[in-house]
Amino acid sequence: MGPPGAGKGTQGELLAERLGVPRYATGDILRRAVREQTELGREARRFVEAGELVPDDVVLGIVEEALARPEAGEGFVLDGFPRTVHQAEALAGIVEESGESLDAVLYLTVSEEELLRRLTGRRVCAECGTVTRPSDAAEGECPACGGTLVQREDDRPETVRRRLRVYRERTEPVLAWYDRSDVPVHRVDGEGPIGEVQARIRERLAS
Ligand code: AMP
Repeated sequence: MGPPGAGKGTQGELLAERLGVPRYATGDILRRAVREQTELGREARRFVEAGELVPDDVVLGIVEEALARPEAGEGFVLDGFPRTVHQAEALAGIVEESGESLDAVLYLTVSEEELLRRLTGRRVCAECGTVTRPSDAAEGECPACGGTLVQREDDRPETVRRRLRVYRERTEPVLAWYDRSDVPVHRVDGEGPIGEVQARIRERLAS
């Protein structure tokens, strides 16, 4: 968990790789669906582009389907989910029904100033979805596939402000909800080099 721009995708990917488990990022799944104009994409598009939350039942459908896959049987990293208390309650139900439990909630903390800097500065490959920054990118080309780099529709300044507001109103209460639950909550400083943040995460999970 963490506000938009906290590094959930970057850190979640490294963590999942290290643990050898799949990572399910609801934002990535929704963006791909929008790009490919699937039925899910058509349903989700206006919410994603406006920086609003996609309705709970739509997102829960995605997560239920992901967690039912055989490869999720040994564990998983969820990224960008849950974002509402209702989603957290539903996830608790799914996990309980499978006789498992959540090991941890990881929450990345980053100052608002740094979030704004990161979000408005990032670019995404229109072809493969790789996230980068202009200083990393040669001539506006994707470093992974050479595709065109674009700004995410929802990374424009006014949409970023809306996403941060939605985050405070809808998602911060989820953290308080987990604080009252049995699942250990780890707050990790998300500022600094990527490798250092990952090391902090591993340290907290190992403790
Ligand atoms: P992200 O890439 O995690 O920042 O997500 C991008 C956008 O996808 C969000 O601004 C929402 O519109 C939508 N989204 C992603 N995850 C969720 C979720 N758990 N619940 C509702 N909407 C979501």
